[in-house]
Amino acid sequence: MAKQLFIFDLDFTLWDAGGLWCDCTTPPYRRINGFVKDAENRIIQLYPDVWEIIHLLKRHGRKIAVASRTEQPAWARQILDLMDLRQWFDYEEIFPDRKIYHLQNIHRQSGIPFNQMVFFDDEQRNIIDVTTLGVTSEWVQNGITRSLVAKYL
Ligand SMILES: [Mg+2]
Repeated sequence: MAKQLFIFDLDFTLWDAGGLWCDCTTPPYRRINGFVKDAENRIIQLYPDVWEIIHLLKRHGRKIAVASRTEQPAWARQILDLMDLRQWFDYEEIFPDRKIYHLQNIHRQSGIPFNQMVFFDDEQRNIIDVTTLGVTSEWVQNGITRSLVAKYL
């Protein structure tokens, strides 16, 4: 079923921070030859389909949001900026708490009903949580893919 708003987790959904959550990496971050690296040279890398997904959603006039419960929101924002990805999100909720609060904030700001949202996350606890709001969820097992997203267009 088609959805209006597509909400993505960060760690292990949109990116892999060298096998870690981004709050376990070491700032400062920098971009070198197109790669975003932390102070210990770990590469923080988007999964291969991310840019195609962003452009696909924009082409179809859909809204895009990020919902992250990272313990280091400023670090996550800095990484998103370095990737030039942050500007593509219509809504951004990054703070360490249950995802129902991120989605409630997005609902309040956007006016989009929960049943018009689809949420992508690699952690079952978050999937279970937001299901109570009536949000459709997809469990992401090896990073986000175009096919996981395309079925909601
Ligand atoms: Mg995650």
